[in-house]
Amino acid sequence: METTIQNNIASILGRIENACKRANRDPEDVKLLLATKTVSAENIKIAFNHHQSLIGENKIQEIKAKYESLKPFPHQKHFIGHLQTNKVKELIRYDVDCIQSLDRLRLAEKLQNRLEYEDRTMDAYLQFNTSFEESKFGMHPDQAVKFALEVQQFDRIRIKGLMTIGLFSAEHEKVRKCFKLLKGIQLQLLDKGIPVNELSMGMSGDLEIAIEEGATMVRVGTAVFGKREHPDSYYWNEGK
Ligand SMILES: *Cc1c(COP(=O)(O)O)cnc(C)c1O
Repeated sequence: METTIQNNIASILGRIENACKRANRDPEDVKLLLATKTVSAENIKIAFNHHQSLIGENKIQEIKAKYESLKPFPHQKHFIGHLQTNKVKELIRYDVDCIQSLDRLRLAEKLQNRLEYEDRTMDAYLQFNTSFEESKFGMHPDQAVKFALEVQQFDRIRIKGLMTIGLFSAEHEKVRKCFKLLKGIQLQLLDKGIPVNELSMGMSGDLEIAIEEGATMVRVGTAVFGKREHPDSYYWNEGK
């Protein structure tokens, strides 16, 4: 397993580098986040031992289960799944550095209240539904400015960027459209003075397109750790 993960990481870094070359971008400007849902703490540690230090989890339950084993390793942990408002407390308890799936006002309100109570701050990316699929979470792009300005009122939440999940399709131009849309939202929000410098988009299957469209972070799971048991929609739903 160790060499497989090591080789996979090397291969992903190669893909990122090649995509950057084609897009005339500096590979230093694209971070690799390892999407570690269903991945054991043991396998995550292998990745840590190979210079990786940024992971994304989809469920509080899993964060909790791996918390003690991963704690000794310096790393950053982002939350990338759909979060129920009653789980906000747990984000803070288990040292989540950033929530990338901030997709509704009610969640932001709850987070602000809890952060105030704990006298903490947290980084956040606003998640948008750029594929317009019902199964995907995220704020509607039409609401971007309104939503971002509302979240900006919450002084404990530090808006750092935007996140989206592209359409799952073999038609590259349709996938690209999603990423272009997120880039457009970014420009719109930057224009309003909202510092959304990070663009988290692109996964195992479409990271090249995302990098061409300006991703500063790609989220990769299967291409590093292998196939998961269930389809992705299963993991996006915190309730299940
Ligand atoms: C699982 C997941 C990823 C990674 O997907 P892969 O196709 O395994 O690379 C990225 N983002 C989110 C939100 C995910 O849930």
